[in-house]
Amino acid sequence: VNPSMQKRIVVLGATGSIGTSTLDVIARHPERYRVAALTAHVSRDKLLAQCLQHHPDTAVIAHEHDARWLSAALQDAGCETQVLYGEQALCDVASAADVDVVVAAIMGGAGLAPTLAAVRAGHQILLANKESLVMAGPLFTDAARQSGARVLPVDSEHNAIFQCLPAPSSSTALHTDLAQAGVIRLLLTASGGPFRGWSRDQLHDVTPEQACAHPNWSMGRKISVDSATMMNKGLEIIEACWLFDLTPDDIHVVVHPQSIVHSMVAYRDGSVLAQLGNPDMRTPIAHALAWPERIDSGVAPLDVFSMAQFEFRPPDEEAFPCLGLARRAMNAGGTAPVVLNAANEVAVDAFLNGQIRFTAIPKLIDEVMAALPVVAADTLETIFAQDALARDYAAKIVARWCDE
Ligand code: NAD
Ligand code: MG
Repeated sequence: VNPSMQKRIVVLGATGSIGTSTLDVIARHPERYRVAALTAHVSRDKLLAQCLQHHPDTAVIAHEHDARWLSAALQDAGCETQVLYGEQALCDVASAADVDVVVAAIMGGAGLAPTLAAVRAGHQILLANKESLVMAGPLFTDAARQSGARVLPVDSEHNAIFQCLPAPSSSTALHTDLAQAGVIRLLLTASGGPFRGWSRDQLHDVTPEQACAHPNWSMGRKISVDSATMMNKGLEIIEACWLFDLTPDDIHVVVHPQSIVHSMVAYRDGSVLAQLGNPDMRTPIAHALAWPERIDSGVAPLDVFSMAQFEFRPPDEEAFPCLGLARRAMNAGGTAPVVLNAANEVAVDAFLNGQIRFTAIPKLIDEVMAALPVVAADTLETIFAQDALARDYAAKIVARWCDE
């Protein structure tokens, strides 16, 4: 292996579902990639195992006591990985000068600061952490323009759309101008989650276990609940607006239960281009890692003869009001998507902890959005302040509902 030929990769959120899939793809191509840093929140055993396999220069974990444990365990095993802890360390490894690619795979708003640090450093970003773009779309895209950071979408739908668009003309633009390229709309596919076809009434008593049992994808618990409420698709509408410079009206959600068509692009001449594949995140990860080349991802080839039928239906916006809430937040602009995302994170957490019902998730978000004013989201400080306000307000409503 020639180190000068290897791209140096930082995986933020290495122990999660996306992080693990990323390391699986990287391990297939030791001549191309070298792991520079791995980060985790609290899963120290898993991070230790990953360090022993990939020998990163640095590992970051949230808390000091875990860092001490990890450091001692690595030393015992003769592994020279340096261990850091805390939020600043996440930003430091994400923006380090000797890095080529940062995989942004932390869950939720916790991913914003390190992802933005990587964008500002001009690194190539493999974006899984959609919440960071939802919270800070204008800051994020401005920073990418200024630093020249190329943002490649890992979210399967956005990666599919990227694959169905003409190649970017300049070295840093994510895409050519969509209207100029003859694109009339994006068709964002959604599996519909485990409760597809259920009525509002039927959703009243569903449990966290039911919500986390996704029929086609295996994912972290937060995004699994987001899929069940369809807030995931709402966040993805906002993500697509920022990635492709569109408005919510340009993006149509299509429920496609088979999760084989990962999204589509409709052109003026009547053509609709789609990207198909087995539902395995290693495909979009490998695509974004090697782009514009193609590499082996470990995903089995798609057997088209085994596919009995493809269904495409409009979403049921009455049973799944989160879609409308997300569109409303994007159209309102400013900090509205920050509040949407924060209230959603609190609501999902409260649902997973058995404090609120599944159907209370959109109700809680709606109440928080109605209560907090929309201000300009032009600095990270404002964004974090609004995020904290919304989380606080949401938590108070949860406490009130629990008392009733
Ligand atoms: P996950 O819960 O499996 O993993 C999350 C990772 O982030 C873990 O490594 C965890 O240690 C780390 N983390 C969590 N909270 C943290 C905090 N406060 N500080 C630092 N690190 C923290 O989640 P996932 O399913 O891998 O999803 C990660 C991101 O990718 C999310 O933004 C999700 O929306 C997005 N995404 C996931 C999928 C998927 O198939 N899993 C698909 C598309 C997009
Ligand atoms: Mg997705």
